[in-house]
Amino acid sequence: MDPVYFDHAATTPVDERVLEKILPFYKNQFGNANSAHQYGRSTKVAIEDSRELIAECIGAEPSEIIFTSGGTESDNAAIKGVVNATRKTEIITSPIEHHAVIHPAESLKMKGCNVTYLQPDSNGTITPQQVKEAISEDTAVVSLMHVNNEIGTILPIHDIANVCREKKVPFHSDTVQSVGKLPVNVKTLGVDLLSISGHKIYGPKGIGVLYVKSGTPWLPWLQGGSQERRRRGGTSNVAGIVGLAQALKHCVDHQKEHNTHFQDLRNELINGLNSRFSGRYQINGPVDGGVPHIINLAFKSNGERGLDGEMLLLNLDIEGICVSNGSACTSGAVEPSHVLKGIGLPDKLANSSIRVSFGKDNTADQVHFFLDKLDHVLNRMTNVTS
Ligand SMILES: *Cc1c(COP(=O)(O)O)cnc(C)c1O
Repeated sequence: MDPVYFDHAATTPVDERVLEKILPFYKNQFGNANSAHQYGRSTKVAIEDSRELIAECIGAEPSEIIFTSGGTESDNAAIKGVVNATRKTEIITSPIEHHAVIHPAESLKMKGCNVTYLQPDSNGTITPQQVKEAISEDTAVVSLMHVNNEIGTILPIHDIANVCREKKVPFHSDTVQSVGKLPVNVKTLGVDLLSISGHKIYGPKGIGVLYVKSGTPWLPWLQGGSQERRRRGGTSNVAGIVGLAQALKHCVDHQKEHNTHFQDLRNELINGLNSRFSGRYQINGPVDGGVPHIINLAFKSNGERGLDGEMLLLNLDIEGICVSNGSACTSGAVEPSHVLKGIGLPDKLANSSIRVSFGKDNTADQVHFFLDKLDHVLNRMTNVTS
């Protein structure tokens, strides 16, 4: 039996239908899209068709779509690209963004920028009012994610974008975890820049999209050849591009049914947790109102050090279940997740947490299997520690 995979916020398998569409670009359709001959022309057509499909899915113009190597590059290019294009030096973001936003912001800080971190509430929410109050004459860019990858919070992007537009400050949103799961339309949301990653939506790894609304002050971050209208150099990842477009289309077309399915799995999980572990666990972040497929759980224990989330993850892995703990292993020591810390969770609980993230092919049977194994593992672990 294959292990149960409950870590779809980390990555997803490539959809079979997507794989079918991209294989030719690793075989006979291998041309460099910049070549003038027929091998080049045919891949060029595939790229431009994909660009149009993606633009259509998110309500953009094809000319506003730039292909990158993934969500990380898109976030870097968005923030650094806007800061480089202005004389302003303040970046407004939050402490619970993905590191692909926080680390570029921190590196700009070393070059003289100011970074303002807006404090989220215990659910991970940031209000448009907070953004409004933080924006100054010197604000170069605001960057806030649509859906948090660890706790599933949905930010009021539309209203935040309105505030930014009023103040004439470019607004970037990391929509890596929302695209294909929630309606993401650049015009309805009102964003100026947005990041997408292929491998979070059943597409290939190493491919992403940066949307830059036309007229946004922005300079290319990766320079080289004339690809992407000189906005991102480097030979185009044709298979990746085609795969991302197909994957996005599938997710957008099946969004409603996937969401219903995730909600069913979530209900099944929470009912099971309540009947077996009532009072012994809590949901970190929003209980309701977040995305249904991400559930962050803290397990309580009486011991002074709390339950070891890392050990829980490893034990579950042995039992055939793959989840995440969101904490980063920095120089040998396990640090609590910056997101759980950022919403004010005490270290003890943050270190006792795991993240379950469902995918379209998960089943209720897998949830029951997980509950059984969790019961078994938690009993064993708490017997050992007490
Ligand atoms: C995964 C992820 C990224 C990084 O995307 P890559 O394609 O892996 O570089 C950025 N932001 C969020 C919210 C993510 O979940």
